Amino acid sequence: MLQLYVPLNFLGVLYREIKQSLADMEKLFSLLDQHREIADADSATPLQVGNHAGPEIRFNQVDFSYESNRQILHQVSFVMPAGVTTAVVGASGSGKSTLARLLFRFYDIQHGSIRIAGQEIRDITQASLRASIGIVPQDTVLFNDTIEYNIAYGKPGASHAEIVAAAQAAYIHDFIQSLPDGYATMVGERGLKLSGGEKQRVAIARTVLKNPAILIFDEATSALDSKSEQAIQTQLKEIAKGRTSLVIAHRLSTIADAAQIIVMEHGRIVESGTHAELLEKDHVYAQMWARQQAHPELELWSESAETV
Ligand code: ATP
Repeated sequence: MLQLYVPLNFLGVLYREIKQSLADMEKLFSLLDQHREIADADSATPLQVGNHAGPEIRFNQVDFSYESNRQILHQVSFVMPAGVTTAVVGASGSGKSTLARLLFRFYDIQHGSIRIAGQEIRDITQASLRASIGIVPQDTVLFNDTIEYNIAYGKPGASHAEIVAAAQAAYIHDFIQSLPDGYATMVGERGLKLSGGEKQRVAIARTVLKNPAILIFDEATSALDSKSEQAIQTQLKEIAKGRTSLVIAHRLSTIADAAQIIVMEHGRIVESGTHAELLEKDHVYAQMWARQQAHPELELWSESAETV
């Protein structure tokens, strides 16, 4: 297996990079047990999410710093209601990805609590936590292996029929079928290069196979043409149904129908609500929305913010 041949110091560098980018956190965690900075408590028990829709997630007065001299999150409190989508928006560096990293427990917080279905994440096993969270990163890293293997990664031991069903749900099956070697096509650095949209679809197929109760979607800031972008958005909405989802959003246009939108500034939540409620409040979100209506070419929140 891949990890047996990779020197440990290289793994360390890779670990830090991946941790930073949110890319394929699940993959790396399974590879890098040696590098765990966070340990299970002796009394840790598996996360119980029940068999109903995705669990409620509660951040309560969370303070967090990566380094002791610079606090990043300040008293962040919000509830992600069970089984629906919460979107987070805000300028670059406002702390959006940090929320996702903390939910995955890459780091422990300094103050406050993060609870999933009432269970504090420090008290549950990391394996069960990570098994319950599916991530569709901005940039999916593919193994140098077949496309089948790359999808199957979502559920080790999955049957070919399950893999095909997941590829169909992610709308990548027809593309795969059209390749001369079909599911046996080699991809990755040394194989067929996939476009940004195709790679995201592989990540979606993996997630479908994994069938997690919680979904984190890190929206791409660039790359996809608007047709692929819209198709991916539609697919994600289907996949997100019934799961508790966190979307790190960069485009206001993609989150208007989220059950809740959280607006962050400098590590603080400055407002939250539905699209309609935030427009009604006529504060940060409403101003950004108005600006985007006036300048549709400024697609990203950060672009609009920079023009203020
Ligand atoms: P973007 O939209 O650009 O991805 P973001 O809102 O997701 O930004 P975060 O990645 O959460 O922002 O970063 C929040 C703050 O934390 C930034 O000031 C960033 O510099 C800092 N930060 C992020 N990762 C680390 C780290 N590993 N060590 C120290 N500081 C970090």
